[in-house]
Amino acid sequence: MVQRERILIIEDEPDILEAMQYSLAREGYRVSGAQDGEEGLSKAEQEYPDLVLLDLMLPKVDGLEICRRLKTNPDLQAIPVIMVTAKGEADDVVTGLELGADDYVSKPFTSKVLLARIRAVLRRANLSSPPPEERIVRLGVVIDASRHTLSVEGQPVELTARQFRLLHALASNPGRVFSREQLLSKVAGDTSQIIDRNIDVHVGAVRKKLGEHRDLIQTIRGVGYRFREA
Ligand code: CA
Repeated sequence: MVQRERILIIEDEPDILEAMQYSLAREGYRVSGAQDGEEGLSKAEQEYPDLVLLDLMLPKVDGLEICRRLKTNPDLQAIPVIMVTAKGEADDVVTGLELGADDYVSKPFTSKVLLARIRAVLRRANLSSPPPEERIVRLGVVIDASRHTLSVEGQPVELTARQFRLLHALASNPGRVFSREQLLSKVAGDTSQIIDRNIDVHVGAVRKKLGEHRDLIQTIRGVGYRFREA
């Protein structure tokens, strides 16, 4: 069997940790576990895993702080992080995404869902080195980054520069959840012009332009938006 990626699970509840370790090991992943934040951080440094599964409510150092330390450490920031969250932690999910976490799963989850998220995040991590695609084609939607054009079902569609940046950011990272704040910074670009801070308005306008394919942009309640994965 091919040795698969190494995954570090930081989770303080022994039953959940054990269940996750079991289902990941069964898939061939090499798994290690840590039961508090401090141990988690030191294992991340020593083992340099291919991915970290990070519970947010942890003793000693909490999950968001771990995420912040990983993502601000030049040696560790490339390691993808999937947050594991409890119900009602939507605000923490948003904070975590802004700190650089790559995705999240909400408890309770099935091992099928967990494995799918892991595969998607690992795939994106492997793809993220080459330059962003110039042309993104999904269903009848063609987004051309070099010409800043959009066509839907063969018809050219006019977009403002801001709408284009928003659409392109989402579509070049299918499956990735963006918080509203992250999308606002894409919309604003590097200008200091005043923009409408209500991202839902911008997203609504872009959806309208996508016409029958408007549901390519999915709303993640309480968190933000993502472009549907194939
Ligand atoms: Ca916990």
